[in-house]
Amino acid sequence: MSSEPLHLDRRQLFIGGEWRPASGGGRFDVIDPADGSVLTDVADGTVDDAKAALDSAVAAQPAWAATAPRDRGEILRRAFDLVNARADDLALLMSLEMGKTVAEARGEVTYGGEFLRWFSEEAVRIHGRWMHAPAGGSRLLTVKKPVGPCLFITPWNFPLAMGTRKIGPAVAAGCTMVVKPASQTPLTMLLLADLFAEAGLPDGVLNVLTSHSSGEVSEALMADPRLRKVSFTGSTPVGKVLVRQSADQLQRVSMELGGNAPFLVFGDADIDAAVDGAMVAKMRNMGEACTAANRFLVEESVAEEFAEKLGKRMGALRLGRGQDDGVDVGPLIDDKAVADVGALVDQAVGAGARVVTGGSAPDGPGFFFSPTVLADVPADADVNTQEIFGPVAPITTFASEEEAVERANATEYGLTAYVFTRDLSRTIRMAESLEFGMVGVNSGLVSNPAAPFGGVKASGFGREGGFEGIEEYLDTTYVALPAG
Ligand code: NAP
Repeated sequence: MSSEPLHLDRRQLFIGGEWRPASGGGRFDVIDPADGSVLTDVADGTVDDAKAALDSAVAAQPAWAATAPRDRGEILRRAFDLVNARADDLALLMSLEMGKTVAEARGEVTYGGEFLRWFSEEAVRIHGRWMHAPAGGSRLLTVKKPVGPCLFITPWNFPLAMGTRKIGPAVAAGCTMVVKPASQTPLTMLLLADLFAEAGLPDGVLNVLTSHSSGEVSEALMADPRLRKVSFTGSTPVGKVLVRQSADQLQRVSMELGGNAPFLVFGDADIDAAVDGAMVAKMRNMGEACTAANRFLVEESVAEEFAEKLGKRMGALRLGRGQDDGVDVGPLIDDKAVADVGALVDQAVGAGARVVTGGSAPDGPGFFFSPTVLADVPADADVNTQEIFGPVAPITTFASEEEAVERANATEYGLTAYVFTRDLSRTIRMAESLEFGMVGVNSGLVSNPAAPFGGVKASGFGREGGFEGIEEYLDTTYVALPAG
């Protein structure tokens, strides 16, 4: 770390450009998932603090909306540069509080930082339109305006990127915000807030509220008519609570929720490429990703070869503390995650699945689970119907393309699907028939700051990144003009 370890003087609330303790002085612990020890603690924001954070965002809103788009873009660009300059510190913090390896965390710094660069470029491309009314006699003008103060609630699995893909477009659009990071991983967001202040973001535009009382502080903020937008990344059950809560003040909402991604391997696929893709789609973030391949649907003719090759690769991964050299796979986030993943594996094995590799949690300390491949998994096993959020690859076979599509779509979720095939016509049919917001073709990675990330069905609505991302933070005013 370039300054104090774990950002000691910044483990407070960031409100109105100032670091301050929680009202009442409460704090809560941040745990190291590699051994269960206490890493440090941070301020435990209360409902009063939440109100103060919103007051600050509301006060900053008019001047920020009036700031020149180029100036907003340049602040984002400076923040992008600072994120890269402090990449080692951000990656280490993320690895410590979340468990992922430092190498993976570096990857997240690159990915998360790119949202700042992308939206620094989008800030100057906000425009409305001018057209002749079809019947003549008048002109139609549209004006884009920032939606106003926002609440961002982010999850623990990508502590940086899930923040920057909301903060980037909001800053670009001229919105102010209160960010509530996951209480298991608050440190990365606190450092990011510090970097934004250094980049010249005016006081009050970005406020960070760490809190262990997520439900209470969010409810209080959403009851306030001055809050105009809520963007949430997290689980589907919490997303549903927030959508219901948004109804009273009719806030605009973006919901990036859970997934249950099918990973389809057809008989004509390059199997080695499919295994490479599977390693990325399954093992990125130890499987703790909403885009993680959840169900491997493999054509019968290649299922044995795929299972064997994937098993070898998964079995060779080295578990350990994310900060240690030579480690491929860090711990899961907590002991509940280990128990939940273990229960899914046990249920599948009880229902007839065969363990190709892994299958259990190693002895402690830490919240580890061995990379696992299961073959011959019944289609209705819990591991296929629920979001695993861990390093487990269940393989089920299919006999025809129709069956593959039907099974892939047989989920309440609709975030990501992966398809491995060398047949172009089939690729087009898949893109059109899979009911998912994103489809990866012969690739295990879909995330890209220049692309619209988001889902359908129980995976939520709204898009982050791409040209679409900034629209989530803009309202449209239509102006009717006479022809003159
Ligand atoms: P989570 O339990 O829903 O928590 C996410 C955030 O919501 C945390 O900040 C949490 O705060 C907060 N929260 C919890 N209960 C709340 C409530 N009643 N009101 C307001 N906020 C509340 O999800 P998670 O376990 O952190 O994350 C895993 C889930 O996120 C998975 O389902 C995954 O698929 C999904 N995810 C989706 C995407 C996407 O882009 N679609 C990306 C990443 C993750 P506390 O930490 O204080 O509880």
